[in-house]
Amino acid sequence: MVQSFKMIVNSIPVVIRNGTIFKSNGDEPIPDGELHIVDGIISYVGPAHKSPNEDDSNHLIIDAQGGTILPGLIESHFHATYFNVESLEDLDIKYPVEYVTLLASQNAACALEHGYTSARSGGSLFNIDVWLKKAIAEEVARGPRLTASGREICGVGGLMDWNPDYRKIGMDGLVLLVNGPTEATAAVRKLVKDGVEWIKTYPTGDAASPDLNDHHTLCMTLEEMQAVVLTAHNHNLKVTGHCRATKGIKNALLAGFDSIEHGSFMDDETMDLLLERNVPVVPALYFEMASIIHGSDFGLSQLVIDGHQETLDAGTASAQRIIREGGRLGMGGDYGFAWNPHGNYAKELTFFVNHVGLSVEQTLVCATRTGAEIIGVADTLGTLEIGKIADILVVNGDVLEDISLIEDKKNLLAIIQNGIIKAGTLNNDN
Ligand SMILES: [Zn+2]
Repeated sequence: MVQSFKMIVNSIPVVIRNGTIFKSNGDEPIPDGELHIVDGIISYVGPAHKSPNEDDSNHLIIDAQGGTILPGLIESHFHATYFNVESLEDLDIKYPVEYVTLLASQNAACALEHGYTSARSGGSLFNIDVWLKKAIAEEVARGPRLTASGREICGVGGLMDWNPDYRKIGMDGLVLLVNGPTEATAAVRKLVKDGVEWIKTYPTGDAASPDLNDHHTLCMTLEEMQAVVLTAHNHNLKVTGHCRATKGIKNALLAGFDSIEHGSFMDDETMDLLLERNVPVVPALYFEMASIIHGSDFGLSQLVIDGHQETLDAGTASAQRIIREGGRLGMGGDYGFAWNPHGNYAKELTFFVNHVGLSVEQTLVCATRTGAEIIGVADTLGTLEIGKIADILVVNGDVLEDISLIEDKKNLLAIIQNGIIKAGTLNNDN
């Protein structure tokens, strides 16, 4: 699937200098690097002493202040419409679509301000993502280049179907509930008409729902998942799913999913299948940690917290093994819950370095190049190379030494989309 992101392009050439450049393409970092942008496209990236001589007076000069110059970050599991809810039920019934849209726009701006120039949605209330994407692309709203999902697909009685029938509350704004492959096909067709790019499904439950749909429970059948993939791929859409239980991950791989969200409990057979197909996984592990640390403040039961611990342990082991055996991970954090709110996006990166054991460089590649691969835009985004779109993050300080610098937006000097400074402490609009 080829996506086009049309955005306004800066006509003033830009030079970024006085920083270490991390290209995220496997090359060594470039100390005292320089990067040039013409018409929103990178025209030079390399050592300052080899750069083409430019007349500074015709350029916008960005001084990286001895810090780090990276590709703009990509949040691979973003929920613009999850408004820092204290309980899952709030997603469905608390606000009407009008208000959730405003909150989603604010969350998108928040992600941009924290260094994220692209994001792939992990599911959306109503059909907000599709229109938020358009608003961002046309500069009506600020935010990451958004790859849109829509309402999420789940089996009746599964993780996202929590209202018992006596309440007479549907789940219309949040999920399309299906019984059997025919209804699964119908749900995808509805989303095709909505204009989404990714189909988000719920093959399994989660520790958040310990009674009926815990992390070892299946919420869709293989046949339903196959119907989703067949219909989605026919319309050039991609499919992902919330996959914790081993059997659910395996079914998703057998059905032909394009990515796996979480991939928590994996046995040898499932891991082999994943690596054979080279399907990327977005673990979202800091969410589990945040649920363990802060859950009791928000009324999560000990049973739920214990389930998150089990999920974290298994998810960490799976992520470590995927990297060790040459697989791909995207960085996305499922932010939008009260205990894991918007703005904390880069905590996922620090967590992968400090607790999962990836190097800073590996983690940054996951958060940039692999993110672009997942979205399907690796030919234009995700690394700093000549000819690519100039989506760039300039950080005050040595990120390769301390990745947690990215967590604090006060350290972000410039967040650049298409060669235009959109946020950061150097942004004149701040
Ligand atoms: Zn999610």
